[in-house]
Amino acid sequence: MSTTGGSAIRGSRVGAGPMGEEDRGHKVQKIFRTYYCVMGHQHTLAFAADILPEDIRSENDCPNCGLPAGLDSKNPPQTAKHEPYKTHLAYVKERRTDAEAKQLLEEAVATVKEKRLAAVAAAQAAEKAEKANAKKTTSKK
Ligand SMILES: [Zn+2]
Repeated sequence: MSTTGGSAIRGSRVGAGPMGEEDRGHKVQKIFRTYYCVMGHQHTLAFAADILPEDIRSENDCPNCGLPAGLDSKNPPQTAKHEPYKTHLAYVKERRTDAEAKQLLEEAVATVKEKRLAAVAAAQAAEKAEKANAKKTTSKK
């Protein structure tokens, strides 16, 4: 009986597909894969333990620099074919000319000024209302 039980467990393990041996004993079965980018960063992704080996991606974008990262630490994906990582500002500068940027900045500043003026006006109105209320209450006495 114990022999058949053992083989049943073996059979189910084979049927469930390969599992990372190092991950056995985790509460939630997961497979971890570490990706290395050409800049020397590394990051780890967790996959469900029953994922098919072909579903584990061979490359993932590095969260540090955006370059593609691969599973081989000694041979990270080369970036020659890929667009170099650009900062958000670089993308913005690509889309907008300096004149447009200046105009946008002026608009943004104007909006902030408007909001501040509105806040000041609201505060002054509230103060007036308070004083008016105070007068009313004093005059009633
Ligand atoms: Zn990186």
